[in-house]
Amino acid sequence: MAGKIVVVGSSNTDMILQMDHIPRPGETILGGQFSMAAGGKGANQAVAAARAEGDVTFLARVGSDMFGRQAIEAFRQDGIDVQHVLQDDNAPSGVALIFVAADGENSIGVASGANACLSPDDVQTASPLIAEADVLVMQLETPLETIELAASIAAQNGVTVILNPAPAQPLSDAALQNVSILTPNESEAELLTGVAVSDQESAAEAAEMLHGKGVGIVIVTLGARGAYVSSDQFTGLVPAFPVSPVDTTAAGDVFNGALAVALSEDQPLNEAVRFASAAAALSVTILGAQPSAPRRRDIEVMLGN
Ligand code: ADP
Repeated sequence: MAGKIVVVGSSNTDMILQMDHIPRPGETILGGQFSMAAGGKGANQAVAAARAEGDVTFLARVGSDMFGRQAIEAFRQDGIDVQHVLQDDNAPSGVALIFVAADGENSIGVASGANACLSPDDVQTASPLIAEADVLVMQLETPLETIELAASIAAQNGVTVILNPAPAQPLSDAALQNVSILTPNESEAELLTGVAVSDQESAAEAAEMLHGKGVGIVIVTLGARGAYVSSDQFTGLVPAFPVSPVDTTAAGDVFNGALAVALSEDQPLNEAVRFASAAAALSVTILGAQPSAPRRRDIEVMLGN
């Protein structure tokens, strides 16, 4: 039987405007195409885990507005326990405004809104749930002190802590000390270690530095090249599944959500990373963040099961 997964993190509504080019200051352009998609790294990871058939509870804050209500309803439909998705009366739901130009270049503004209000008190209220979880999954779009408290409650109770250190920001040794599995991409690994990561060798060098800060398992994701895993159980490259990419948004989020599911099922680390890679590969074949998170049966097909 699968164990419980708690995801602590952000929820946003992405509003995407595809245009010929990105408007310059003072410029107005007509003729764009608008779409809206559920996003936010925390929510993306929770949805990815739920669709991979994990038992998921999400701890987050949204506003008491239309976006917040829509997000909660969508989480419910994905089978996520939303008891701890709090509706904030004083802050609006998180929103990302995204311009995408015809050449693929983008320009993004994020108003964190209620995400910035996810507090250590919220984590304290949910502490029995975190203590009973098998796996806790977090990212860096909510306040650091909230993440640190959740990690410390988890570590005290033997819960596996996956931290996806995205968006990239420097982390203190104290913030890393309770992390069981750190999953930076190349640029995040570079920011955390100063090592310019571009291949297996440099990923291994960065991983060594992160082990030195007390992180037992480091998984550096290398985009289409795969994921470099460094740990006592397994060290080496897990190659990416070959696909034709359409939109790589949220590949890392889907990877982390699916990884949590495989680990909650006690899959060995190398198989868990393969499972996560299959899910992430499927996600890059579909446009949007949460719309691209695959279902379990499709992941199994990708794995050849
Ligand atoms: P992020 O989205 O956080 O920048 P990456 O780009 O490293 O993360 O992608 C995370 C994982 O998703 C990779 O390790 C790989 O398994 C998978 N992935 C990403 N891009 C592709 C791709 N073009 N083809 C197949 N798999 C991919």
